[in-house]
Amino acid sequence: MPPGRELDRSSLLEIVSYDLAVDLTGGAETFSSRAEIRFRSCQPGRAAFADLQAAGVRRAVLNGTDIAGAYQPGRLELPQLAAENALTVEAEFGYVPTGAGLCRVSGPDGCACVYSKAYPGGAPRIYCCFDQPGLRAPFTVSVHAPAGWSCMSNGAVVSRPAGAGVWTFATTHPITPYLTSFCAGPFSGAAFTSEHDRLSPVPVSTNSLPTAAAALEAAALPELFRQPLEYYQRSLGLAYPYGKCDFVFVPGYPGLAFGAPGLVTIKEQVLTEPPQRNPSLYLATVIAHELAHAWFGGLIELQPSEDGWLEEAITTYISRTALEATRPGATPWAEPVSLALPDHGYASDAAPIRQLETLIGRQAVLNGLGNLLRDHAHGHVSKDDLVQCWSQAAGRDLRQYAAGTLKPAAKADGQKTP
Ligand SMILES: [Zn+2]
Repeated sequence: MPPGRELDRSSLLEIVSYDLAVDLTGGAETFSSRAEIRFRSCQPGRAAFADLQAAGVRRAVLNGTDIAGAYQPGRLELPQLAAENALTVEAEFGYVPTGAGLCRVSGPDGCACVYSKAYPGGAPRIYCCFDQPGLRAPFTVSVHAPAGWSCMSNGAVVSRPAGAGVWTFATTHPITPYLTSFCAGPFSGAAFTSEHDRLSPVPVSTNSLPTAAAALEAAALPELFRQPLEYYQRSLGLAYPYGKCDFVFVPGYPGLAFGAPGLVTIKEQVLTEPPQRNPSLYLATVIAHELAHAWFGGLIELQPSEDGWLEEAITTYISRTALEATRPGATPWAEPVSLALPDHGYASDAAPIRQLETLIGRQAVLNGLGNLLRDHAHGHVSKDDLVQCWSQAAGRDLRQYAAGTLKPAAKADGQKTP
């Protein structure tokens, strides 16, 4: 049977690991990567495909056989899979000016930086992968960067070169390709830890280019990061899942921000061109929202086809709840305050969760979310899983209630965080 886009690879493949090397020393226009993927097929002999959007394929080898000729823009055909497979793909790619892929931008002083936007559809523009929900695997990443640059990725730095050279990162928990993230450039900033009773301290860093360093130091105070982080750990009863968290402010990031596991990328203009109305709460909302995605969107994902809206609804609910609880006088739900916040587009989707508080209480809502994370860590969940966890936490069957109230609202226009 020929492979096709309709092929649900999550029922056919199990991805064991990615070993990924990205080389950023190829100049201002192009970069290259080498992806070594180990994966299993439950139907040996069957064909499948990998996702790849390259400018050129240098080498593609599946189980010792050259398959470079099987590349066409967007996909690499994989004929005759074995039970255990090894795929190596070396390819060149172009930096994208904006949008999904690897973006290289220059600041006003001419210094450049590189950042990725893997979601949605950007990962195959950076390396060969299986870019599909449900196909998670641990990533071991290295980045070859110019001298004077620092690099960040989902995992913590394991080794850094003295000058130009290769940065290596700790192997991640299982994540999907669209949750992978990289930033590299002449960044500087601050580092601190967030402490919590009986949990390991979480190292946090804030980073920007030199041109935004003063704005970063003035606005991005450590408590903006510590307060929501400690609130989530306490209220969900669950440690921050990814060991460390780096925040990087970069020029022109499309879509405002993205909270990947261990690495949050935020548009620099949030610092340098803050909104006139309530800029402190605006920045605090961006940080709290993206941090919450470490649990909702990172540690677990909602089934994207039907229940994906719940991911932003839960994230908005819990991040605004954290702001309300930790910032005296903050009223993120009150109009017109809500209207001026970057997550306003999701507020109406979050409303049914707030409504649930009036029925079972806030603590039961939070306990149910904590149970969902514990029961399904590093996997996908459905609305039914969520309602089951809320029912257990509340000690009552909420299925009928949820069927009537837990629905996406009609979409309003507005600036959204992803
Ligand atoms: Zn979001």
